[in-house]
Amino acid sequence: MKNTFESIDIFAAKRMDSKDKLKSFRNEFVNNDPNTIYLDGNSLGRLPNRTIPFLENAINKEWGDDLISSWNKSWYDKPYRVGNKLARIIGAKNEEVIIVDYTSLNLYKLVYSALKLQSGRTKIISDSFNFPSDLYVIQGIIKDFGNKHKLELAQSEDGITISDDAINKLIDNDTALVVLSHTAFKSGFTYDIKKITEMAHAKGALVLWDLSHSAGAVEINLNDAKADMAVGCTYKYLNGGPGAPAYLYVREDLIKKLESPIWGWFGDQDPFAFNSEYRPADSIKKFLVGTPPVISLTAIEPGLDIILKAGISKIREKNIMQTDYMIFLINRILVPLGFSIGSPLDSSIRGSHVSIVHPEAYRISKAMIKGIKSDLKVIPDFRKPNNIRLSVSGLYSTFEEINKAILLIKEISDLRFYETIAIPKEIVT
Ligand SMILES: *Cc1c(COP(=O)(O)O)cnc(C)c1O
Repeated sequence: MKNTFESIDIFAAKRMDSKDKLKSFRNEFVNNDPNTIYLDGNSLGRLPNRTIPFLENAINKEWGDDLISSWNKSWYDKPYRVGNKLARIIGAKNEEVIIVDYTSLNLYKLVYSALKLQSGRTKIISDSFNFPSDLYVIQGIIKDFGNKHKLELAQSEDGITISDDAINKLIDNDTALVVLSHTAFKSGFTYDIKKITEMAHAKGALVLWDLSHSAGAVEINLNDAKADMAVGCTYKYLNGGPGAPAYLYVREDLIKKLESPIWGWFGDQDPFAFNSEYRPADSIKKFLVGTPPVISLTAIEPGLDIILKAGISKIREKNIMQTDYMIFLINRILVPLGFSIGSPLDSSIRGSHVSIVHPEAYRISKAMIKGIKSDLKVIPDFRKPNNIRLSVSGLYSTFEEINKAILLIKEISDLRFYETIAIPKEIVT
C-alpha cells in the first residue's frame, strides 16, 4: 500500500499528527528546545526521560551503595538480560543475542570465526554501499589470513539501490561469507534479509548482517530468515546513548561451530574460577571478551523498553508514512529548485531516512543547523559528497517537523542563504 497525501500545507501535517497513534511517545524523550527539529536520530538517538533516573539508580545505589555486590545482584548477567529485550526487536531467540563491545569489534569476531569455519573457501562478498568500518575490518582480516581471500563488492546501477541479482551473481561455491549492512547509511536502501540469506545458503555461504541503521526502525525477523549472524549498534534508532555497547547475534545451531578469535576471561565457561586454561563457554557467551561497561549497558535498557511498548510494527508503519510524506514534500517543493532524491521511492526497500542530493549539500546542511533568523533550526547530517540525510523516528518525529524542515531548506535555497557559510578546504573535491 502506498501512502498518498492531500496537501503540502502545515495544517495537513498537523492533522496527521493529531491522528498519530504513537504521538504520546514523543513525551518519553528529552526535548528542551522546541525550535530545534532533530532529524539525526540515525546517528545518535534522543535521550529517553526514563534513562535519567534509571542511570541515577545504577550510579547511586548499585555502584555507590552496593559496590562489588552489584555484580551478583544485577550486573553480571546484564549483557544477556538487555540482549533478551533486543532479541524481541530483531526477531531472535534469547540464547542468540548478547550486548557486547562495539559493532566493529563484533564484526571482527564474527568475520574471523566464520572464515575459519569456512576454510577452503576464499571469497567474501560485500557491497560498495557498506559502512567503511565494516570494509576495513574485512580488509584487515584478509591481510592477517595471508591475503588468501578476495573481497568482491557488488555495485549499484543507480547509486541508490543494489539489486539482489548483483549480489547473487557474485556468490559461488568458493564464497565463504557475505557481509552486508541491512540498511545503507547513505541512500537508506534496505535488503531483503531472507532472500539474500537463501541465495547464500544455496551455495553454502554464510551471511553476516550489520543492522546498525535498521534495528529499532525497521521490522527484522532474523529467525524467520534463518539468518546466520548479525551485529549492530544501540545508539541510533535504539536510543541507547553515545558509545553504548553493540549487539551480536548468532543462530543457535551455529554458535557451537564458531570460535571467537579473542579468548577473554568473560568468554570462559566460568570466569571466576580463574582457571589458567581457557575453556570457551558453549553458548553465545563465548563472544564476550572482558568486563562489560555496566553504566553504558544500563543506559540501553530504557530505550528498548520504550520500543517494546510502542511495538516495532507500529513504529515501522509510522516511519514509512513519514518518509513517504517527506518524499512527497521534496518532490513538490525541492525538486523544482534543483534538488533530487537519493533514496529508494519504494518504502519496502527503504530504511527510516531520506537523502536529498544537491551540489551545495554541505553548505545547505550547515545553514539548516544555523537557522535563518536563528529561531528555527533543523539538525540533519551531511554525507559526502552531496547528501543531506534526514532521518525520522516513529517514536519522536512529527509531520509538522518534517513540513517545517523541508520549507526551511526551500527558504535557504530561495535566499541563497547557504552562501553565507564558508566551505572548509577538505570539503572541496
Ligand atoms: C553506525 C554504524 C556502525 C558503527 O560502528 P561502531 O563500531 O559501533 O562505531 C557500524 N556499521 C554501520 C552500518 C553503522 O551504521
